[in-house]
This record gives sequence, structure tokens and C-alpha cells, in this order.
Amino acid sequence: MKKRLFLLDIDGTICRGNALIPGAGEFLQAVRRSGGQFVFITNNATRSTADYIRFFRTLGVESGPENYLTAAYATIRYMQERYAGQHIYILATDSFTAECRQNGLLVTTDAADPAITCVLVSYDNALNYDKIKDVCLLLTTRQVDYIATNPDLVCPVDFGYLPDCGAICNMIETATHRRPRFLGKPEPAMVQYALQNAGCAPEKALVVGDRLYTDIACGRRAGVETALVLSGEATRADVYDSEEKPDYIFPSVAELRQEFLPEPAVSCVRNTAPETSMRACVS
Ligand SMILES: [Mg+2]
Repeated sequence: MKKRLFLLDIDGTICRGNALIPGAGEFLQAVRRSGGQFVFITNNATRSTADYIRFFRTLGVESGPENYLTAAYATIRYMQERYAGQHIYILATDSFTAECRQNGLLVTTDAADPAITCVLVSYDNALNYDKIKDVCLLLTTRQVDYIATNPDLVCPVDFGYLPDCGAICNMIETATHRRPRFLGKPEPAMVQYALQNAGCAPEKALVVGDRLYTDIACGRRAGVETALVLSGEATRADVYDSEEKPDYIFPSVAELRQEFLPEPAVSCVRNTAPETSMRACVS
């Protein structure tokens, strides 16, 4: 089954830490050459879309805003729809906080603001105990809603893993007994937005990721076929233990090309007539 739209996780699927997974760059080029499209759907809120475009450029991969659909984007859309004009306490990176403000959300880091109606938690690489205390105070003493960008427990980096948004929320839950509504994967919204934006039928799309409980679950909920890659978190043994069974399993994205991309439109044909001069191959 050839595919036209590839909905790709980034961490553990395309990159590990700050490096491309071997074969990932060639796969992205092959998708473009085939007339297909790739969209990164990522729960990683540590980078904005602009940060990602710069990051991939340093790795030799050109991309534009149309190639991204982040949990940050899904969260901002959700907050715009439900919390426009309301004060939101935010625990997040400076980059995501700025993106929320640019999109008209009234986010604050002042827990004493009496107008706060919602607490929004995301990955935060400048997390400290004062911020944790502010969130616990608001969730314990005030009638506020509680939203978080993504349920991922860990975030892969070059030496292993760091605690991600889900782990931060677990820590808060231990103290407050409150659990947020998570908006990133495995909620199907990101995949649905991507299909709409590309005008692509679900059967012509493929969700690719390294995690069963976020990537694969998200694709399944959106009714799109899924491919698990073993270059990140999940192992083949994890598949047997999980209810989230992928449609396909591959060692890495490098192996997707043969299965899901059509052959190039014009291929090189062997010249069997010795008297004719060699023609240049066109690809
Ligand atoms: Mg991943």
C-alpha cells in the first residue's frame, strides 16, 4: 500500500538527541521526490515550529511551517477556543510561553493573579520548585481547570532520557490528586488537523513513531495506519504487552521507503544495444 502523507514523530523516530537517525534524511528526500508529503507531529514542547525549522536546517533538512504539527499548536488551538480572554497560569519553556502570548492567550506566571481560571503545564527545561509550588497551590486552593500539552513520561536525549511533561504532571498529581487533560498524542486531534491541512484521505496516510502509548495510539484513534520504528523507546517485546498494536514494525524509518513509496517516475534502463551510444540516465 503506497502512502502519500507521512505523519512522523521526531524524537526516537527521525532524530536521537541532536542527530538524524541513519537513513532518515534520505527517507524525507525520497518522500518529496515521490510527490508525497511529510508532517512532523510531535509532543515535544521544548521547541517552537521556528526552533524546529532552524534545528533541521543545521542537520541538512529543509522544512517549512507546513511540515509541522506540534502538541504546542494543538494546545494553543484548544486554549484559544475555550479560554480566550481568560487568565492562564503557565508552567512551560520561555519559547512556548512566548508562542502562547503571540497567539493571543493571556498567560501569566504570577500565581497570585486572582483572575486565573486555568493552569497549563508543559515540558519546562527551567523547571524549579517555586513553579511546582505555584501549580500545587492553584490546584489545591482554587477552582481552576488543569490542562497539559502531552502525557509523555520521558524525552529522549543523546545520553538517554529526561523527565517530560507526563512525569512533571505525575509529580504534581502525587501532591494534589489532580490529573490534567492532556492535548497532544495520543489524542487524535493532531492527526486529524494534518489530514485536513493536506486534503488527504486517512487510507493514504501513515503515522510513524517509536512509542506505542502515544504515536501508535494516536494513529489508531484517528483511523490511520501505523508503523512502529524500533529506533527509539519501544521494543518488539513491548508490542506483545501493549493493547496498541501497530500495523507495521520496522527497524527504523530507513526501511519505510521500499514498502510505502512508489518507484521514481523515470528510472534508468539498461542499454543492451552496444552500437547505440549511451544515454544519460534521467531521474
Ligand atoms: Mg518519539
